[in-house]
Amino acid sequence: MQFDWAKTIEDIFADQVNCPRCEILTPQLVAGYSRAPWAADYAPRCESCTHKEDCDSRKLVFLCESCARELRLRARPVDQEAMMSLLVQDCRKDLEECLDYLADYWQEDLDISPEEITARLEDVAPDVFEEETAWRAKLEEEYLRYHRWFRDHNIRIPDAEWRSQYVEEVIGLGYTTAIGD
Ligand SMILES: [Zn+2]
Ligand SMILES: [Zn+2]
Repeated sequence: MQFDWAKTIEDIFADQVNCPRCEILTPQLVAGYSRAPWAADYAPRCESCTHKEDCDSRKLVFLCESCARELRLRARPVDQEAMMSLLVQDCRKDLEECLDYLADYWQEDLDISPEEITARLEDVAPDVFEEETAWRAKLEEEYLRYHRWFRDHNIRIPDAEWRSQYVEEVIGLGYTTAIGD
C-alpha cells in the first residue's frame, strides 16, 4: 500500500494523524534521520526512490512515538509547520549539493586534469550534465511544492533569503533555474 504523505501533512491540522508504519491514529508524529534502508518506507522524500532495499541516503523519517522507539530512531515531536520546515530544509540541502557539483565537484568526480580547470561539465560530459540537470529540476519542483504549501497556509517560510541566494548562485554559474522570479 502506498502511504499518502500529502494527506498526512494536511491531517495534522486535524486532531489525529496516521503513523505511516503501524497506522495508529496519533495526535503527533516524531521526526528523525536515518541512513538505514528500512527508513525509506517512512521517508516522504524517498517516496519515488527506486532502490529502497539498499537506499543509504540520510533520510528524514516521520513515525509515531512507539514505532520510533521500537526502531531506535532518535526523534523529536513535530507539528505540521515543523514537519514542512524540516522537509524544505532537507530539499534545500540537496539543491546546494547540486550547485557544489556543478561548480567544481564534478571535476574531482570525473578526475579532470588540471589543464582543463576552465572546462565546463556540459562540454566534457554532456550525459552527466543532463542527468544532473534532470535531478536538479526534480528537486526545484519539490521545493516549489513546499513553498506553495507555506503560502497557502499563510505561514512564513523559514530562512526566506535562501531562495534568492540560490538563484544568484545558479545564474552566476551560467545556468538557469525554475525557482527564479
Ligand atoms: Zn507507528
Ligand atoms: Zn531512497
